[in-house]
Amino acid sequence: MKITEHIKKAKGKTLFSFEIVPPKKGQHIQKLYNNIDPLMEFKPPFIDVTTSREEYIYVKKTGGLLERKITRMRPGTVGICASIMHKYNVDPVPHVLCGGFTKDETEYVLVDCHYLGIDNVMALRGDAMKHQSYFEPTKDGYSYASELVKQIDDLNKGKYLHDITDMPHRSDFCIGVAGYPEKHLESPSMEADLRRLVQKVEAGADYVVTQMFFDNQKYFDFVRAAREIGIKVPIIPGIKPVSIKRHLNILPQVFRINLPDDLVKEIEKCSDNKQIREVGNEWAIKQSKELLDAGVPVVHYYSMGKSDNIKTIASQVF
Ligand code: FAD
Repeated sequence: MKITEHIKKAKGKTLFSFEIVPPKKGQHIQKLYNNIDPLMEFKPPFIDVTTSREEYIYVKKTGGLLERKITRMRPGTVGICASIMHKYNVDPVPHVLCGGFTKDETEYVLVDCHYLGIDNVMALRGDAMKHQSYFEPTKDGYSYASELVKQIDDLNKGKYLHDITDMPHRSDFCIGVAGYPEKHLESPSMEADLRRLVQKVEAGADYVVTQMFFDNQKYFDFVRAAREIGIKVPIIPGIKPVSIKRHLNILPQVFRINLPDDLVKEIEKCSDNKQIREVGNEWAIKQSKELLDAGVPVVHYYSMGKSDNIKTIASQVF
């Protein structure tokens, strides 16, 4: 079922959902199930599965020389989606990226999703590769998520690449896109970023999931500004609990988001990561309760491959 239909069916009740990251290749899928199992009691109607960009690794050659190879360390997004759809009877949402994929490869991913009966996809540009200072589009790929949304929307209309049109068995993907309550790190202003979000919606996006934020006011302001500029689709807040001291520096650095000073001070008082997790969970519980009171359609949690803190939070909120 489409995310938008889940939201309609809930009739104003806030839903619980979360995002998982495929394990590194070579690991068993059971590791993933062990993290999903404890969260199923909160009845997520959908689970997002991220896609990782390719990266460089260095392989030792005879003689000690290192050879640079490009590889994907966490492949398997569509396979994981198929597996969790059947094991848990939830709607999986594969993330589809511009970065690292040609348009044709994207079409093949979408065809696989269609054959598997996957109803939702999240369309994202992806970040720069680790060694790059800014995002460079893949040859025969896209520069912006709005272009990817258009390809998916075209497919929904029966239009494949290479002018194959009017195919009878059309996909009908519900398309999610990313939104940034504190603006995307490359965007010159909040207003410019919102105009880009409008482009994604006009290209066919059905709903928005936000980047993590730690101050709900940023989300409320973002939703208000999005509504004022004409965006009518659901805007789902994304929440991540802080769990280690390094998050104080990593999260602002990687995502260009702010952490409220009250949260920073509480974390700085902690003597170990166990205490930090408690503070992070308490903060996320407070945020989630306020979002529920505000009537948000879904609270979406970034699990980053670990579910115990999400379980603690969800058990206080849902
Ligand atoms: P876009 O919407 O293309 O925007 C990127 C930048 O370009 C913005 O600054 C925007 O303002 C600007 N822009 C857009 N269109 C134009 C235009 N026509 N001209 C000029 N500027 C333009 N990353 C992953 O690698 N894998 C994942 O699974 C993943 N999942 C995510 C899930 C969520 C909910 C979120 C919020 C992010 C996720 N990301 C993921 C990170 C995402 O890929 C990065 O934030 C990326 O840098 C931007 O992606 P986007 O889809 O928002 O890009």
